[in-house]
Amino acid sequence: MNADAVKPFFIYNTLSRKVEEFVPLHPGVVTYYSCGPTVYLPQHLGNMRSYLFTDTLKRALRLNGYEVRHVMNITDVGHMTSDQDAGEDKIEKTARAEGRSPKEVADYYTELFIHNLEMLRIEKPTVPPGQFCRATEHIPDMIALIQRILDRGYAYVVHSGVYFDVEKWRGPGRMGRLSRQSLEEQFAEQRLEHASDKRSKHDFALWVLNQPGHLMQWDSPWGRGYPGWHIECSAMSMKYLGETLDIHSGGLDHVPIHHENEIAQSESATGKPFVRYFVHNAFLVGMEGAKISKSSGRFPVLADLVAVGIDPIAFRLFCFGAKYRSELAFSLDAVRAAQRNLDYLTEFARGVPDGIAHGADSDWPQPYFERFHEALNNDLNTPQALAVVLDLVGESYRRNDKRIWNTLARMDTVLGVDFEGIRRRAASERLPAEIEALRAQRDEARKKKDFARSDALRNELLARGYEVKDTPAGTVVQRRN
Ligand SMILES: [Zn+2]
Repeated sequence: MNADAVKPFFIYNTLSRKVEEFVPLHPGVVTYYSCGPTVYLPQHLGNMRSYLFTDTLKRALRLNGYEVRHVMNITDVGHMTSDQDAGEDKIEKTARAEGRSPKEVADYYTELFIHNLEMLRIEKPTVPPGQFCRATEHIPDMIALIQRILDRGYAYVVHSGVYFDVEKWRGPGRMGRLSRQSLEEQFAEQRLEHASDKRSKHDFALWVLNQPGHLMQWDSPWGRGYPGWHIECSAMSMKYLGETLDIHSGGLDHVPIHHENEIAQSESATGKPFVRYFVHNAFLVGMEGAKISKSSGRFPVLADLVAVGIDPIAFRLFCFGAKYRSELAFSLDAVRAAQRNLDYLTEFARGVPDGIAHGADSDWPQPYFERFHEALNNDLNTPQALAVVLDLVGESYRRNDKRIWNTLARMDTVLGVDFEGIRRRAASERLPAEIEALRAQRDEARKKKDFARSDALRNELLARGYEVKDTPAGTVVQRRN
């Protein structure tokens, strides 16, 4: 660990409703589980905000010297159209509508999801390295956990399935600890039909039985069936990260039902605290009225932004520019403002020569890094951190001193813009002197309307392997691939 690693890191813990200093269970290592997508639809921009938040938290922890052991799931079975077991399996519903198998649906939307993550430069989970945990690949782990819950007396088996006995898990520090809502409050919004043989309407399914119409089924000690949605997160997180996790994150909508149920399942089975810091991000709002081409009738997705000329990284900066616990209002204008910030940073990065990038920084940027680091450690104050990055670049221009590259590169480990990639690509595009001379001569010829000379110079450039384009800004020359 370097000197930067000793700063305390503060984060808002939904369990305590307080900003707390983060201290991991095991020094130097953070175990982190975040809830992933249910793969039956494209993930909209609001979903992507949640994954960007996870990515930023991981990167900020790493800036503090921690090794982050991060697991994320892919829900490809068991998530019903209601979060409370009612309705139809979301994957199977799409499969029927599209005439495909559930696996084809899950594979297609998983691939689309991963492609979106890559476009946003969101890092993949680290445990297992670079892999997402698919629910359908962890059925034996779920069955084993359900058996433990049954053995401890917190679940029961009836005709329609194995249910968690919520009434038995009532009491101080149990159901409602996270949401601070009574069961009645948590269920107040629900007007759903529940399986008639459940002991209480609050009980939730661990394993569903006797649903012959369901396509995805597995053998279990209780009969053929399939898992409920909540059990996968408990089973997969504990399998890879141990029975007590440092951090568990997800969208605010997961607080009342999904995360309460995860705590109940895990703690009833192990008798140990499941999660030490629960961290939740607020929503992206205002997408209903967003005017983006092709997006009518659904929330906008990343491809909609790309279609109107916005770089996915501009959306990354847009999200970085707001605190994760605040609602963020989506509008195309606001994302375009983020694109202008990105253009400003990109232009700077493109102009940094090798000599400066490979050399030492000046002394004056160091306090900027300190401020950046402090902002992140203060409950992930990303808008403040972004302001520091923009200030640093502005100051570099004012001083006419580009020796800030190492500082900027360290900030970029969290910001995720890839300044070095931008700089390298620009450097490789730079033209050899004699080609640049021909390009300049051609601009001159065109200005004088000397079209014969302009054409001759064009042919000369083509013969040397360069593409020539006429633009309002003059001749643009690029090496042919
Ligand atoms: Zn989950």
